[in-house]
This record gives sequence, structure tokens and C-alpha cells, in this order.
Amino acid sequence: MRVSQLLIPTLRETPAEAEVISHQLMYRAGFIRKTAAGVYTYLPLAHRVIQKISRIVREEMDAKGGQEIMLPIIQPAELWQESGRWAVYGDEMFRLKDRHQREFCLGPTHEEVVTDLVRGEVRSYKQLPLLLYQIQNKYRDERRPRFGLMRGREFIMKDLYSFDRDAANCKQSYAKMYDAYQRIFSRCGLSFRPVEADAGAIGGTGGTHEFMVLADSGEAGIVYCPQCDYAANVEKAECKPQVKAIDATPSAKELVATPGAKTIEAVTKFLHTEPECLIKTLIYRIDAKLVVVLVRGDREVNEIKLNNVFGAMTVELASAQEVNQLCKCETGYVGPVGLTEVEIVADAEVPLMVNAVCGANDNGYHFKGIKPGRDFTINQVVDLRTIEAGEPCPKCGEPLATARGIEVGQVFNLGTTYSEKLNAKVLGENGKEQTLYMGCYGIGVTRTMAAAIEQNYDQDGIKWPMPLAPFQVVIVPVNLKEQAVVDAAEKLYAELLKQRVEVLIDDRDERPGVKFKDADLVGYPLRVTIGAKTLQDGNVEVKFRATGQVEFVPVEAVVDFLQVQIAAQLASCGN
Ligand code: ATP
Ligand code: MG
Repeated sequence: MRVSQLLIPTLRETPAEAEVISHQLMYRAGFIRKTAAGVYTYLPLAHRVIQKISRIVREEMDAKGGQEIMLPIIQPAELWQESGRWAVYGDEMFRLKDRHQREFCLGPTHEEVVTDLVRGEVRSYKQLPLLLYQIQNKYRDERRPRFGLMRGREFIMKDLYSFDRDAANCKQSYAKMYDAYQRIFSRCGLSFRPVEADAGAIGGTGGTHEFMVLADSGEAGIVYCPQCDYAANVEKAECKPQVKAIDATPSAKELVATPGAKTIEAVTKFLHTEPECLIKTLIYRIDAKLVVVLVRGDREVNEIKLNNVFGAMTVELASAQEVNQLCKCETGYVGPVGLTEVEIVADAEVPLMVNAVCGANDNGYHFKGIKPGRDFTINQVVDLRTIEAGEPCPKCGEPLATARGIEVGQVFNLGTTYSEKLNAKVLGENGKEQTLYMGCYGIGVTRTMAAAIEQNYDQDGIKWPMPLAPFQVVIVPVNLKEQAVVDAAEKLYAELLKQRVEVLIDDRDERPGVKFKDADLVGYPLRVTIGAKTLQDGNVEVKFRATGQVEFVPVEAVVDFLQVQIAAQLASCGN
């Protein structure tokens, strides 16, 4: 293709609303344009990257026996009512009515529709395992669509659903997909890590892993063990109580004035103590009910774990007004002592505390010398906090390290969660009907494109890994007025096309500086610069975008040189 003909509207300015680097660069490099909040148009360069990711995904799904289908985007409410998710999916679901007032949604995911297909068409265990997948737009009315393609309201997902006769076979399907995902993200040229994860709204009981592309800008926190293979999303990572050596001789409860001290920091300073000696008391509204949540003062409440304890739809901090009604004080002086009308849940470290400090439910006062169990009753003790770097690995005990990640895929062992509700059964070997075991496996194709940029860029633009690059090579003739330069460029272009190299020629009548800037911004892995000076020596200049390295290559050798480079880079990540 010729740059003069391609729709690559590059910009020098960064759009103000683009907060993350992938969004900024995809906008500036002419990959995407916004159509509505969280809804984007993919221009030719983006479309090519999407096709490349999709091809890798297809090959790996097919290799595991996946069969590609296309399910409808418009889904009838009845199916979602059957699974019970119509009522619980909430505002994230785009809902619509047809002219007869029948209710539908735009598919945020496809467990219901695909299970409906299978229960209607598959009769016998002999037809299993069945692995059905599609690559298609998904619709989620995200509360905060942001970060460009990272969190859109319309985005492209590959979703595969596995159907098996029993739990053991389902586990095998899960293992196949886990392996396929490792291969996919390796072949994309990305640095990633699979982590244990929380099942969230999709549910299921058999376990789940997320695949995280490692990048400092990632929304997800990860802990991993440098010694063994343990890795988990911090949402999920189980915490063991860590006992801090404090004065273990219990003293009596004592009311102390702490005027103006409303934060952990202020109380700690005022009473000359440490945050780990404080009981952090938070009032949550869990669905409609107020609940008192306790963690040590140096810890953070993990709302995902809290949600799981209650199996709740919503978990939110109570308003100042609600706190005041319950505790008769400002938020900064809240504590568990005397709160007998309300459920108190505590993190597993709290009952181990002695001589702790907590709010006295009286403005300007705290208690000292508090012993949980003696001075107040805890209704439930559970792991409620978020793990921190340096805590021992739950598998081997070595100190854990932390990293940031972008969730690009997730695999779920669903068990019979959906098939039971939707009554999806087959005849088993014994001639009796048995409920299907399911798994579901998603990859965010457009998010993977964004994640690849978050991991590979510099101040000049994108540095595409070879397997995902929209074009592998760009040829830049520096001066279109020099016939020798134009001829050499056109000749090389024709030869590379013949060799099926994905090549662009920047034939625009622009200054070389403009072409170089655009080439760096778009991020083609290899740039061939052809100028009169080097041509005199019989050379062209090849620049590697990833490293900035420059080589002069004889004109007659450059086709081979480029092909060897491309093949080596593709092979290095398993292509
Ligand atoms: P998140 O926690 O980021 O909202 P999720 O866990 O709800 O995502 P899944 O239901 O597991 O997402 O969907 C499978 C994959 O689809 C995710 O791993 C992610 O790559 C992608 N994805 C999910 N939501 C979005 C979105 N709003 N925009 C782009 N990609 C998305
Ligand atoms: Mg997920």
C-alpha cells in the first residue's frame, strides 16, 4: 500500500480526553476515532492489527478443536430470565424493546444463547466435548468507559464455550484453553502472566484465571511469587493473618479525648502509636443493609472479598448521614464498641489484636486498651483485606512481589451453574440424562491491541511487536525529486510485495522529517530509508523501531535482509 492512498490521519496534538498512552497514541497515529463515549471507529491500521490478533486467536482455538460460529448480538430477555441474570446484570446491560414491546439486550456475553443452542441440538455424550467460539462485538454500558479501547462500551471479544459430560472432562477443556491462551499471548509478542482470579458476575465454582499483560499502567494489581509459580490478582489473593508484636498484656478499656483526630494518621500521631494498633472501622451499605467492617489500621478493605462474603449485588461505603444515624458521630470517630444492633464482620487479623485503639462513637473521642471479643462482639471473622508486597506466598512462604497488569483474557470453569438453570442435559453412557459441565473463555481482542501499546512505546510513538504490526516495513524515499531515489524505492517496494512482505511506501511529497516522525509514531518495526547519499555507496538505511538500531545494507541484499529479520522476530515468539 501507498501512504498517500491510505487513511492514516496522524496528528501532532494529543486529544485532551485521552488519559492513557495507548489511547493517545492510537488517536495520534490515526488508528481510531471516537464515535460516542466508549464507542470507536477502527481505521485501516487498527483494522489490520485486529485481524492479526484474530488470526492468531482463531488458529489456536481451531488447534484445540474449537468450532467457529456466530451467535446473535440481539438476545431475547427470556433466556436471561431463565438463567436469572436479567434481574442481576444491572445497568451494564444495554436493553431495548422491539415494536411489539418485547424486551431484548445487546449481548454483553453469550452463555445463555450458546447454552440454548446446545440444549436444543446436542443429545448424547458422544457428541462431546464441544468447543464453540466466535469473535464478535460485545456491548457493556460500563459505568466509566475510559482509556480508549481499554474499557469501551462496544468492543471485540473472542468467546469460547466448552461443553463436557462431567467435571473431569470439563477440567481438561479448561486446561486446553489455558494452554491456548499461553500460546496466543506469546505469539502476539507480549509479556504476560496468568493469575488466579475472582469469578465476579460470571460466577461458576470450578476456578478461574486471568491473563494479564504486564504494564505499569495496568488497572489490576498482581502478586506473584519469585520462587514458585503462585500468582494472583490482588482482588483474589488469600491473606494469612500477620501477627504484629505489640504489648500483649491486655489492659482495661479507656476513653481518651482525641480532638480533631479523624484519620488513621492523625490518631496515630495524637496517641503516639502505630497504624497496626488501630482498628479501622468502616460502615458499608451491602445491598440495602448497613454492615460494620473492621480491618487493622494499616490494611485496606478488599471490596471484592467483602462482596463474596455476602453474595451481594452492590457494596458501597455508607453516606456520612447513614453513618451518623447508626453511630451518632462523624465518620472519623466510628468504632465497633456498643454497636449491637448491626452485623460486625472483621478481617482475620482483628481478633488477634490486643490493646487496640478504635473510635468511641463520640465526636472527639477514641478508646484505648481495646480487646476484640471482650469489648465488642464480632459476628463473622473472614479474610477481608488486600494482600501487600512482601507478605509470605500462600504456597511456599517466600515474600511475594507485586506488579501491575491489564486483563486481556479470562478462563472460567463454570461447572453446572448455567446448564442447571437452563436445563441443558445430554444422555449419558448409562442411558440416563445428565447435566452438562461448562466453561467459558474470553479474550478482549481490542483490549489486547491497546495492551500491546501500553507495553511497547516510547516518546516518539508505538513500537509494535512484529506479530501485531499493521505493516512490517515502511519504505521512506527521502526526496521524490531525485529520480534514482524514487526508482530504487519503487523497485524495492515491488520486490517486497512480490515476497509477500507487509510493506508500505511513504510516497507523499513531504519533508523527510515529517515521514520519519509519522513512521515512529505509527510504529512500523522496520523502516528503510532511501536517500541519494547512501545510494551512491550502493546502500540503504534500515532502522529497527524497537531498539533504534541502524544498519546500512547493500541495495541488492536488502530484500533478503528484511525477510530474515521479520522471520526471526516472528519465530522468537512462536510464530
Ligand atoms: P473487567 O474486569 O476489566 O471489566 P471483565 O472481567 O468483566 O473485565 P470478561 O467478562 O472476563 O471481562 O471478558 C473477557 C475479556 O473481554 C476481558 O478479559 C477483557 O480483555 C475484555 N473486556 C471486558 N470488558 C471490556 C471492555 N469494557 N472493553 C474492552 N475489553 C473488555
Ligand atoms: Mg474478566
